[in-house]
Amino acid sequence: MSFNKVLLAGVIITLMVLPCLADSVEGLPLHIQKITANVIRLWVGNYIGSTAVSAIATQKGIVVIDSTDIPKVDQAFRKIIEKEFGRNDFKYLINTHGHRDHTTGNGVYSDCQIIAHESAAEMIKENFNYIPQRIERNNGDIQRLKNEIESGKLNDEQKATVNERLIEDTLYGEFLESSPQPVFPTKTFRDKLVLDCGDVTFELYQGGGTHTQSDIFILVPQKGVLFTGDILATFGVLSGTAADYPVLQKNWKSLIDRKNEITYYIPGHWKSELTFKEFQDRFNYVNALLTDVKALADTGGNLDRFIADYTLKNKFPYLVDSPGVTDMGHWLSIDHLYSIYSGKVSFGNALEQLIWDNNFSAGFDKLKEDLLKAKDRYFYVETDINRLGYTLLQQQKYDDAIKLFELNVELHPASWNAYYSLAEAYYKKGDKVKALELFKKSLALNAQNENGKKFIAQIEKEIK
Ligand SMILES: [Zn+2]
Repeated sequence: MSFNKVLLAGVIITLMVLPCLADSVEGLPLHIQKITANVIRLWVGNYIGSTAVSAIATQKGIVVIDSTDIPKVDQAFRKIIEKEFGRNDFKYLINTHGHRDHTTGNGVYSDCQIIAHESAAEMIKENFNYIPQRIERNNGDIQRLKNEIESGKLNDEQKATVNERLIEDTLYGEFLESSPQPVFPTKTFRDKLVLDCGDVTFELYQGGGTHTQSDIFILVPQKGVLFTGDILATFGVLSGTAADYPVLQKNWKSLIDRKNEITYYIPGHWKSELTFKEFQDRFNYVNALLTDVKALADTGGNLDRFIADYTLKNKFPYLVDSPGVTDMGHWLSIDHLYSIYSGKVSFGNALEQLIWDNNFSAGFDKLKEDLLKAKDRYFYVETDINRLGYTLLQQQKYDDAIKLFELNVELHPASWNAYYSLAEAYYKKGDKVKALELFKKSLALNAQNENGKKFIAQIEKEIK
């Protein structure tokens, strides 16, 4: 099939498989989409990006792809699938990867063989660690959502979105409170696995080293469907080891070569589909990144300069605004690959972990000491440290943000932006005198900085 025909087919298919709103599950609107004969996709919510679960009726039984993070929803889905296909001989559950929103409801299919990549089990185990902390975080999320609704500042669509999230988080909270136990895959594989279901075959390919190490592609050639899980939904080269990439490249290329057998590219979250071109674009991106970041690490080139030039806009304009692709994902991909190929530790990643674990105040001094003691064990990027400083500022942790921005100034003493951020943190903390001094330093390094001039004028007025 020519490229244009593939595109045209994509348009026609989109018209044919418009999702229909059937009912609701636990107060969330239910969607059932018929992808092709004996292949359906289910999800809840009109506004949230909930997990899309697919089901395929085969001669040897029903095969389900992914569970969600709310077993109650999976119980409802199982009944709906039964009704849609008029049978209940469930045979396999396939997890596209180990994230909790694709595996938590596995127990609903404990009568089936559960299949996943060999690295998924460890992730599933992790999802059930720290349950008390998860409950606390979830309760915090619920409270924030309630506050947002009560603020009266939301428009109708925002309100509907927040309401759906609130239902989702409440259901997840109920699950967390129920002393939950993980349900692991019963059959795993590394590079490739084929399941023979009579009239239909499932070809499972390692697609890991992308969204997670455990991601897989699931090709169902008789149905013309490729399930891509989150590989393309939250796109990037974000995890995995150097050994994963040659396998990923080989598997992905083999799927590109079989484009005539694939009509539907189905992601694990969005309600839409991808085109062949979008699938191929992402493959080209992964190949380019693997080559270019490895070359940078091998030659010891300057990472700050590389990042400034190697933007999506400059190098991959065809991916700008493409679904699932973000500048942040792009940066995290470079960070991950550079870490692998240089053998160095990402200081930004270590910082991010501290902030995510709510542990910055306790852990930063030690991390900073480690970095300054053995600078060539780590790599760090000015804009990355700066970004994380603003995360702390947003959380109103002014002293923590100041500590981090101060380190950035120490590491990058010629950067006007490092001074600017530090000045802004002092200003937000209320130390206007110190902020003024630092804004002036920043302006001395870059006289073109109009925002700096505005800040200085404003502070001088306020101090008077
Ligand atoms: Zn995921």
